[in-house]
Amino acid sequence: MSWERDIHLKTAAEIELMRAAGRVNAKALAAVRELLQPGVTTADLNAAAEEILRRHAAYSPFKNYGQPPFPASICVSINEQLVHGIPGKRKLQEGDIVSVDCGTVLDGFVGDSAFTAGVGEISPEAQKLIQVTEQALQVGIAMMRVGNKTGDVSAAIQQVVESQGLHVVREYTGHGVGRSMHEGPQVPNYGTPGTGVELRPGMTIALEPMVLIGTHRTRVLSDRWTVISADKSLTAHQEHSVAVTEGDPLILTVL
Ligand code: MG
Ligand code: MG
Repeated sequence: MSWERDIHLKTAAEIELMRAAGRVNAKALAAVRELLQPGVTTADLNAAAEEILRRHAAYSPFKNYGQPPFPASICVSINEQLVHGIPGKRKLQEGDIVSVDCGTVLDGFVGDSAFTAGVGEISPEAQKLIQVTEQALQVGIAMMRVGNKTGDVSAAIQQVVESQGLHVVREYTGHGVGRSMHEGPQVPNYGTPGTGVELRPGMTIALEPMVLIGTHRTRVLSDRWTVISADKSLTAHQEHSVAVTEGDPLILTVL
């Protein structure tokens, strides 16, 4: 795919449909968040999200995505697992930090969003990691204005993270989202102000800071999906799908 050619500007009506998909996605993530406690399996989290999607006649674009086909509707990534963790029998434990990424297809449009949260009491180091990742996403969203370029958004995210002594992933990026889960433009979590694609009204982009404590390096486990920090340090991931408008950025993946 050519990221730059594959940019699809949405009409106001299409943004409304994306807002609807994003709302269902937020409901699914809220249901998962409520379940986060010791003893709950990651498969339980997946089932809770699937139940919400089913109730809204929606489905997840993650299921059967890629090669080997991703077997679940959400990604659940624990501690050193950064993204793309596969739900299963593993039980959450007190002190874990859990990243949950969910996608929703409703009426032909995709919502894509993720959060990281703690199970019970978590370390101050983990709390800071989550706070900085949330802040990086909010600062990135605030940069989603006409006249700015994708490099401005990327650089703002990177600055928040690195100013706190943390690291942004290089291999995985934010991306346009719409009828397809991955459209252009690509929006890395690092970059140079004033470079990249100019933001225009109707662009819809999933911003997703992925932050690591130790270094920016990652590796993929033998299941060929789960991405972990190379040094096994803690990681976090926050994501919203956001529309560029003539005015303020519109977050699509909230209730
Ligand atoms: Mg996602
Ligand atoms: Mg995404």
